Amino acid sequence: MASELTPQQVLREWLLTMLGELGGSVPTARALKVMEQRYGALLSEEDWTLTKRGDESKWWNRTRFERKNMERAKLLVPASVSRGIWTLTEAGWEEYRRIPKVDPTVEIVEEPRDSSPAQPPNEPAGKVSPSRAEVNTQRIIRSTAVADHVKRIHDHTCQVCGIRLTTPKGAYSEAAHIQPLGHPHSGPDIVANVLCLCPNHHLLFDFGTLSVSDDLIVTDHSSESSLGHLREASGHLIERDYLAYHRNHHGR
Ligand SMILES: [Zn+2]
Repeated sequence: MASELTPQQVLREWLLTMLGELGGSVPTARALKVMEQRYGALLSEEDWTLTKRGDESKWWNRTRFERKNMERAKLLVPASVSRGIWTLTEAGWEEYRRIPKVDPTVEIVEEPRDSSPAQPPNEPAGKVSPSRAEVNTQRIIRSTAVADHVKRIHDHTCQVCGIRLTTPKGAYSEAAHIQPLGHPHSGPDIVANVLCLCPNHHLLFDFGTLSVSDDLIVTDHSSESSLGHLREASGHLIERDYLAYHRNHHGR
């Protein structure tokens, strides 16, 4: 097993990747957890030894050091401003997009930065007309890249209730299509037509018990009460046309 410390540059790339994929900002405690989950297996024995002070592993100590380096390089919002939330700056996002992505099947689309505050980095292309395969029933082949991308941006947190379910196999959430994919709706399988929801809110949304206004206010029509604002994440633009389709379809 390797005994060298993971280089600062590698820690920086991991940090950027993690932040980018989680939508650009992550609280410190969560950053530690996610980094551990994703990269723990790649760390060396030396990385896992404790610092001289003995209160943390060397790799985490060095990751926090790298966070400061990145702050100085203006890739992260200063800790004094972001209050413990590790947050990418515009330059940080640019740096994130420069990192070669591991999955060669995901197409990287470079968009002008000013088009929207929510231009998703490395958004999977998805399918405007999902392909259909005739088996016994007609099944729509969904792009799991799109669903996975949205779930990752929200870190599996329901956009309606904020609940994040955890299972022994990891966090669980569902990707809900706003304008349904199947006939006769023919909604597109793209990020802008997908919400990250818990199973309960996915079901209620699909049945039209929940609707979402253009201002992203969620209404529960079983009690005609507002459930507040849909939780947003940078990197996930929700196309209002699909919300309107969903409301019209359910007579809202
Ligand atoms: Zn929920």
